[in-house]
Amino acid sequence: MASKVVARKSGLHGKGLFAARDLKAGQKLIEYKGVRYGVGELPDLGDDGVTKFLRFSDGTGINGTSKASLANHGCNPNCELAEEEGHDPPRAWLYALRDVKKGEELVWDYRLDVTSHHEAFTDWACACGHEQCRGTMADPEQLVGATGATDREKR
Ligand SMILES: [Zn+2]
Repeated sequence: MASKVVARKSGLHGKGLFAARDLKAGQKLIEYKGVRYGVGELPDLGDDGVTKFLRFSDGTGINGTSKASLANHGCNPNCELAEEEGHDPPRAWLYALRDVKKGEELVWDYRLDVTSHHEAFTDWACACGHEQCRGTMADPEQLVGATGATDREKR
């Protein structure tokens, strides 16, 4: 079966993932594969502004190394990354949230865990360019209670 997605240079960040053909809302696109980590374990994410680490509901994680992990963040996503129930270890796929035209860049909302506004808007600033861009790849729900940069020191 021909691939539904193709990787190429993105206007957003580095390489991105694009629709290789017209996609339907709800369509399962590609599995998120990578190096597995145990409960509570974290890879060295570095500070290059890119994170490919995904935490599953059972507490284990995966650091994406496959094509799926090239998909960029977008504040108005056309895709979502979702864990599918019934797998051990857990597995996740990228799904289309709406109909997507061939050639469109595929983006999903990373909703990163952050501990402060400072971290959200400096380390994980977003420039996706959408009119609804919230300025960060962080989880918007975590920004409600977060305060200043000093939060980081509580870790
Ligand atoms: Zn944005």
